[in-house]
Amino acid sequence: MAKLCASCGTEVLEKYSQFKCPGCGKETIIRCSSCRILTTKYKCGSCGFVGP
Ligand SMILES: [Zn+2]
Ligand SMILES: [Zn+2]
Repeated sequence: MAKLCASCGTEVLEKYSQFKCPGCGKETIIRCSSCRILTTKYKCGSCGFVGP
């Protein structure tokens, strides 16, 4: 199953960060390395939390 970056929607392969949503603590947020460096905003799919 493909893991998609929560910010840009790109499929992440090796270097990515994965953490629980700070808003609801349920949804798993995945960010690719470029979005992490650029601090692109992400949005939680279940609670709508937006973070840097
Ligand atoms: Zn990304
Ligand atoms: Zn959430």
